[in-house]
Amino acid sequence: MKPLGIGLIGTGYMGKCHALAWNAVKTVFGDVERPRLIHLAEANAELAAKRASEFGFAKATADWRDLIADPDVDVVSVTTPNQFHPEMAIAALEAGKHVWCEKPMAPAYADAEKMLAAARASGRVAVLGYNYIQNPMMRQIKTLIGEGAIGTVNHIRVEMDEDFMADPEAFFYWKSELASGYGALDDFSVHPLSLLWYLFGHVEAVITDMVKPYADRPLKEGGRRNVENHDGANVLMRLGGGISAVLMANRSAWGRKGRIALQIFGSKGSIAYDQERMNEFDLYQADGRGSEQGYRKILAAPAHHPYDRFIPAPGHGLGFNDLKIIECHELIHAISGAPSSIVTFEDGLRIEKSVHAMAKSFHERRWIEIA
Ligand code: NAD
Repeated sequence: MKPLGIGLIGTGYMGKCHALAWNAVKTVFGDVERPRLIHLAEANAELAAKRASEFGFAKATADWRDLIADPDVDVVSVTTPNQFHPEMAIAALEAGKHVWCEKPMAPAYADAEKMLAAARASGRVAVLGYNYIQNPMMRQIKTLIGEGAIGTVNHIRVEMDEDFMADPEAFFYWKSELASGYGALDDFSVHPLSLLWYLFGHVEAVITDMVKPYADRPLKEGGRRNVENHDGANVLMRLGGGISAVLMANRSAWGRKGRIALQIFGSKGSIAYDQERMNEFDLYQADGRGSEQGYRKILAAPAHHPYDRFIPAPGHGLGFNDLKIIECHELIHAISGAPSSIVTFEDGLRIEKSVHAMAKSFHERRWIEIA
């Protein structure tokens, strides 16, 4: 496969993460052509030029449509706020580009459907940024569950908490606008849903409560603006095979920095993982040892592929950005037609459907079955 030409829209938190991945994927994995960093778009020309120089892109623009029109661009990374995803992803697909779009797909379900329709019509690879499924620890957890290490899984608890919106005096920004979505549901819950999908399949029924801890926030320019969505959500869920699950998400949880705490309970044991300690998980296997029973800590090591591609020594640890490098590698494999582990727009739409069912169940105060 010829080297892929890359376009990057947005250079904030996730834009830099994608840029790091495109820069590193060849060095880490070796088995792909080094991507060519062609074109970068930002909201204004000055920032675009600065970031292009820092990230190593040849061209910069303040109009993302220039990048879409660039014949040298084969893949477009969409890393802008949620409300821009549909227009940018669809334009890229219609121009014949592959798309790597950050989660969630879109605030409105109808727009997410249009994104999938565009992906299908284009025949291009369209994937979403669900990086947490790429952790080698998560792969090992999936393997262990598949081998029956904890028996038949019957209950799951997953909590996603951060505190970047915990301060009631934190400035209002796009994440509190209804235009960006429901709040914690599409900002956070989609990540645990991607993990549940990866390990067990899609959620089948939900009932939700949503929480808005602060009614308004200060504006940078003075005054205050009403918070338009919910920073927290608590969801009871049913998965296939009779598995019950609880999901709690909160963007205003003081003290929690990057928590995705996943507990999986089975008939013969349990597994406990937390993204804040992403290089380990705890495994409990009921083995009749009575008072000596306890969790065993499994530390990330070269045996947990593709940890070995980064570091030859066990216990040294990968980081958040490394998950994007792995995701980037999976995306390149998908483009070349090889098997890959990614969340396509197809599965992404089902995740969106679950999120909208959660919001509906909150508004209607009842369980919602998801077809
Ligand atoms: P951010 O605010 O840090 O960055 C967004 C960038 O987009 C900014 O630099 C902004 O100037 C730029 N931008 C806005 N409008 C633009 C336009 N019209 N043209 C070009 N650039 C434009 O936001 P973020 O935290 O990086 O979030 C971006 C997306 O990534 C969101 O959809 C979010 O949900 C997702 N996200 C994913 C993860 C993950 O773990 N996968 C983590 C954080 C955010």
